[in-house]
Amino acid sequence: MYRRIFLVLSLILLSISCRSSDGSDYLSVATTIANDSQVELGESVVRQPTVEALEIPSEVYAGDSFKVVVSSDGGLLGSIKIFGKSTPLLLVDTNLLSSVVAVPIEQPSGPVVMELSVTGINWRVKKIISMDILERSVNVDRIYRTQGMIRIATDGTSFAQETNLRQQQTKTYSTHQYRSKFMQIPVVGEVSTFFGDMRAYENDPPSNPHSGVDFAASKGTIVSASADGYVIYSATMPVRGTSVVIDHGSGIFSGYHHLSKVYSAVGTWINAGDYLGEVGSTGFSTGPHLHWEVLVYGTPTDPVQWLESGLSLTDRH
Ligand SMILES: [Zn+2]
Repeated sequence: MYRRIFLVLSLILLSISCRSSDGSDYLSVATTIANDSQVELGESVVRQPTVEALEIPSEVYAGDSFKVVVSSDGGLLGSIKIFGKSTPLLLVDTNLLSSVVAVPIEQPSGPVVMELSVTGINWRVKKIISMDILERSVNVDRIYRTQGMIRIATDGTSFAQETNLRQQQTKTYSTHQYRSKFMQIPVVGEVSTFFGDMRAYENDPPSNPHSGVDFAASKGTIVSASADGYVIYSATMPVRGTSVVIDHGSGIFSGYHHLSKVYSAVGTWINAGDYLGEVGSTGFSTGPHLHWEVLVYGTPTDPVQWLESGLSLTDRH
């Protein structure tokens, strides 16, 4: 139990720096302490920060998401640096920080290094953790484009505008935390294309990996929200067509695309299962289907993985 100390007299600047035997972890503490007649002799006035990785997988498939759970006495915030970007590590409970990280589908298999950083009052601890990325097996679908799709692909602007728009959609994040136990399937329909599958158009070689999961369904089939969140986009995109994008918190977004109708306005809070719109074939599409995406801090990840429990920030498993 931490005992409060009343401090009055002198000022001591204490700085501790040490390095672990393998040189991979380091710990630095800088604390300013004022002294006082009420300080009890023999009582330690410096609490050593503790940072322990409770949950980090040793291997993950490219395109999958993984959860990081860190126990830290006094840690208030942190970050995870991996795959060339920094992801916030959020305080989700007393002494518990958590985050979900997506492995980009393009990430080559092999070892990668993650830098974990946790900050408390006047201290910061960094740890280097290594993990293995495994290669994902994917299918190649050959697609014969409609005249409308060829127009979108060759107009010279649609795909560039789409990229821009997608960056805008996931550029800012709400501060609420993702706490859904799992996501719900947003539509009733058979999966026609899985995440990561490659597309080959006409006689061309396979190109970009599929950024979501496609459900074949009739035009007008109801589409519902996979989890609670704010609607941050409800309009037409050049390639994904009429779309709704939801911000679920903690950098997690879901997208519902090629819709024929949308019901939800931007800024609306919706609950899991609430109706968002109807299946259609708008944008770059061969026929009526729902293209469902899940993005983690802007990185598309396999939505199917989110149907099982385990990625909630507060849920330990
Ligand atoms: Zn699709």
